[in-house]
Amino acid sequence: MNIISFSCPIMTKQKFGLTVKKEEDFSEWYVQVIIKGEMIDYYEIKGCYVMRPQGQFIWKCIQKWFTEKIEEAGVQECYFPMLIPKSMLEKEKSHIENFSPEVAWITKCGNEVLGDPVAIRPTSETIIYPSFSKWIRSHRDLPLKINQWCSVLRWELHGTLPFIRGKEFLWQEGHTAFLTKEESDEEVLAILDLYSRIYEELLAVPVIKGRKTESEKFGGADYTTSIEAFIPGSGRGVQAATSHFLGQNFSRMFDIKVDTDEGSENSSFVYQNSWGITTRSIGIAVMIHSDNLGLVLPPRVAMTQVVIIPCGITSSSSKDDAERLKMYIGKIQAQLKSSGIRVYVDDRNNVTVGFKFNHWEIRGVPLRLEVGFKDMEGAEACLVRRDTRAKRQISVEGIDQTVANEIDTMHNDMLARAISERDSRISYAKNFEDFISALDNKNIIMAPWCGIDECESTIKSRSTKLGPNGSVISTGAKTLCIPYDSKPCSGLECVSCGKQAIHYTLFGRSY
Ligand code: AMP
Ligand code: ZN
Repeated sequence: MNIISFSCPIMTKQKFGLTVKKEEDFSEWYVQVIIKGEMIDYYEIKGCYVMRPQGQFIWKCIQKWFTEKIEEAGVQECYFPMLIPKSMLEKEKSHIENFSPEVAWITKCGNEVLGDPVAIRPTSETIIYPSFSKWIRSHRDLPLKINQWCSVLRWELHGTLPFIRGKEFLWQEGHTAFLTKEESDEEVLAILDLYSRIYEELLAVPVIKGRKTESEKFGGADYTTSIEAFIPGSGRGVQAATSHFLGQNFSRMFDIKVDTDEGSENSSFVYQNSWGITTRSIGIAVMIHSDNLGLVLPPRVAMTQVVIIPCGITSSSSKDDAERLKMYIGKIQAQLKSSGIRVYVDDRNNVTVGFKFNHWEIRGVPLRLEVGFKDMEGAEACLVRRDTRAKRQISVEGIDQTVANEIDTMHNDMLARAISERDSRISYAKNFEDFISALDNKNIIMAPWCGIDECESTIKSRSTKLGPNGSVISTGAKTLCIPYDSKPCSGLECVSCGKQAIHYTLFGRSY
């Protein structure tokens, strides 16, 4: 028989806190932050995670915001099956080449070995486009714009990391078809803009918009655009979302075409886009904002935005006093709630106030209201920010507006800090020595580059750090994107091969 022992939470407080510092062991710190902050839990299969309510809430906020925006643009919601017949998956050559190492196949059901194994979607182009071929007949069926929210499965071979690189992860995938390339091009950028707004307006994370190089583009796309974020703690870049122009690559393979002149033999293949953002976005926000006390949640998307903690009630407080304080707090709670602020009162009487502070700090709740007898007498409360831990007395008069303003101020401050940190860590490199030293100082790098595939792989191998026994200590730098707002580099030489540079390109170690 198992003996379960319950220990007093105060006695075991140490265990609840983080045991490593962000600046000392970033990877271990990150995992502790999301586990102890109750964002995610482990699961039996490596690379698969349990999404807890705190994490799922943020995803819901992203879903809600994005759905509203794409609906305005005429995108409709659908749901397609998760299984792909082999023949479909293999239709577009570069697509399957790109994905095949990560595709999981169902080969056996019960005792029966399947003659035709089916794949579990790593992405749904090849599931959705046979339907496009049926649904699109004339130019009047265009544009066709659909989106689905689902999970996909990519059997990631390299290090998995909660949120950032999972085997199964949640995302939305948009799939659209247009008559002209111009309309298609325009949408690619409009979606990229919405993605960057998710990061900036909801998660307080700055991103850089750009185009992927040929070797980094999506398998089957003519070109891929992306937004890239920077993780100061590890000095790495991370692809934050992508929007692809598929051109006519899939429409030719899946026979998706329209008659251009009614009644004529002429027909043309449609132009297509696909675009996706995943739960990686949550991991990026956690990595950027959290600190050595635990999670720091972006206040606009936090499940609990304000926690109210009654203070000063002791065993010697009179019942009446305690009751009056409770009512005072109840009024504050109702006022905040009526303004749509997500508020929780921690009125547990079996733990200390200090324990409650730690409890909510490690869970990243953006604002804390400490309310004691003195505050009540002065018709005030003490407001404490999770990010700066700054404290100030505020009046109960208009407290909902004060708190709402603080949520916005906190959001803006977090974004501003992330921008200034990132900008101070983007190095301009003229030569390869600069490049390597910037990389080793945990920077990402803007460098003039020739645009040649082989040069990109050379840069990767030249910047890979090997240990004495030949093991890889740090992976090499790769191109993150060619930023849309990068300055011209005419007349400059490529940072690695010395040939003529064609654009300033963003490089970095990355996730
Ligand atoms: P893709 O369909 O390959 O363009 O992927 C879309 C987006 O998914 C990328 O921009 C990444 O931000 C994200 N992503 C890719 N792989 C993973 C993964 N294993 N786990 C979580 N997010 C991912
Ligand atoms: Zn070069």
